[in-house]
Amino acid sequence: AIEVRGLHKSFGALEVLSGIDLSVAYGEVVCVIGPSGSGKSTLLRCVNLLEAPTSGTVRVAGDEVTDPDVDIDRVRRGIGMVFQSFNLFPHLTALENLTLPQRRVLGRDKAEAARIGRERLARVGLTDKEAVYPAKLSGGQQQRVAIARALAMDPRLMLFDEPTSALDPELVGDVLAVMRSLADEGMTMLVVTHEMGFAREVADRVVFMDGGVVVEQGPPDRVIGSPAHARTRSFLARLL
Ligand code: ATP
Ligand code: MG
Repeated sequence: AIEVRGLHKSFGALEVLSGIDLSVAYGEVVCVIGPSGSGKSTLLRCVNLLEAPTSGTVRVAGDEVTDPDVDIDRVRRGIGMVFQSFNLFPHLTALENLTLPQRRVLGRDKAEAARIGRERLARVGLTDKEAVYPAKLSGGQQQRVAIARALAMDPRLMLFDEPTSALDPELVGDVLAVMRSLADEGMTMLVVTHEMGFAREVADRVVFMDGGVVVEQGPPDRVIGSPAHARTRSFLARLL
């Protein structure tokens, strides 16, 4: 589903990604872990071309997003993205947040967008909040609306960038439970997270990044349970 080869990204003189190779197969859940500044967000942003790679190739669902002739809007429609900040439209209800992009981007009619919107809100456990505005929702509920909004676009894969790190600790579990159920349903997911419990239980593979490179990757029990590299060990030790 995702193929990253020899990806480099510099901001001016600062090289942030120094040759990343990473694949995510359909149905696979890959968690990316690593210290602050290691390039995790930049990697995700290169996958949907929110950042233009300096060199290397990125393929998503068979399309080469780094090809200058690619229809990037079409590629992006297939990629659901959930950020640390929920970015809901404050002047729209939960349901309207889901229906607006379906109508604008996919051209669905009002009834169809509402039907799909309600189904996705049910999936994240927020059926009773459809008429509520974001300011009246908890952070965890807002993030679940953001996930439902991405799901309403019928993405082929989902990117998550630290979706729980802005949440109060007691709200993290509900969001992780939604992500876990998505994983169980076979959604292809690339997830940047500091939640080692989630990575251990849900990921098929864990990728440890440091200094713009993939230091090691493998099954969670191996990478988190018995890391091969000193850099991974010291990162994990600092988390405890
Ligand atoms: P965190 O865990 O704190 O989110 P990260 O691993 O996601 O960190 P990135 O956000 O990818 O790290 O940033 C990697 C480096 O790139 C940092 O040094 C950051 O300052 C730099 N950087 C990111 N975006 C830009 C930008 N638009 N312009 C200049 N430098 C940038
Ligand atoms: Mg980041």
